[in-house]
Amino acid sequence: MEPETEKEPVAVTAFDVNENTVVVARIDLKIAVEKVTQWNRQWIQPSISIRVIKTDFGRLARRYGAIRRRWAEELSIEIGGKRISGTVTREFKKRVKRLREGDRKRDRVNKIAHQLTRDVAILVTENVCKKPQEEMVEGKKSPQLRHRIKQTPMKAVVEKVQDKATERGLRFVLVPAYRNSKICPTHGVELSFPLGPKLGLCPRGHWVHRDVAAVLNMLIKAAERLEPEYAEALKRALSTVDEKALEEWSKAVVDAEAPRPAVLARASLMTPPGEEAVSPAGDRGHL
Ligand SMILES: [Zn+2]
Repeated sequence: MEPETEKEPVAVTAFDVNENTVVVARIDLKIAVEKVTQWNRQWIQPSISIRVIKTDFGRLARRYGAIRRRWAEELSIEIGGKRISGTVTREFKKRVKRLREGDRKRDRVNKIAHQLTRDVAILVTENVCKKPQEEMVEGKKSPQLRHRIKQTPMKAVVEKVQDKATERGLRFVLVPAYRNSKICPTHGVELSFPLGPKLGLCPRGHWVHRDVAAVLNMLIKAAERLEPEYAEALKRALSTVDEKALEEWSKAVVDAEAPRPAVLARASLMTPPGEEAVSPAGDRGHL
């Protein structure tokens, strides 16, 4: 397909792909640039909003894993007192093929890429290594968790978004991955993680979810790589992010990560990935 020519961006969108979510931070350039260029519109706040796309890749992998283990057990046989796993049987292979796990994953990857490239935005994400999963697996003790993370097609999501961006003539900016989720995006200081790997505590006394920190720090880094008018708009929008916004966004990410009730979880195998818009402080995110 012939790539479209580059269009004037209306937003800068940073995204961070995780086990069960894609966290997206969007800065509305039109409003932000207007604020910079029109002295009489100073009261307009550059719009920055965060939303969480539920992907449930991790949960999906776990569910398929459980099904496969059950079949392996069910189809196992004993020969001469020796137990042989059902995974070697033709029936097992037939059933696994019918699960269409790969198709379902690809389908989700495509839908996420479509959502992220819908408007004319400059897309920003971090420059992950060849196999980001491998890095995440390090230090994770449980073998099930290690397997689940390996099953998460993070690289596939980033590549698909990049492909679609090229197709649509959208700019795609890769920023260094260094410490994006470990630094407070408002105060620029190192976070500690006293309650586990997700919630960071800033020495200034507020909480921020690592994925919220990650997308905002990506935007801070993107500002160094963009033309002055966009960079200025980004900086202004980012300067409006306070502790209250960070905590509200963080809560929204925590909520989105929470497992759904059992019945809904089963239904979600068939339904497209959900999407939840979050705009703390009333209408701030949608000006
Ligand atoms: Zn802070």
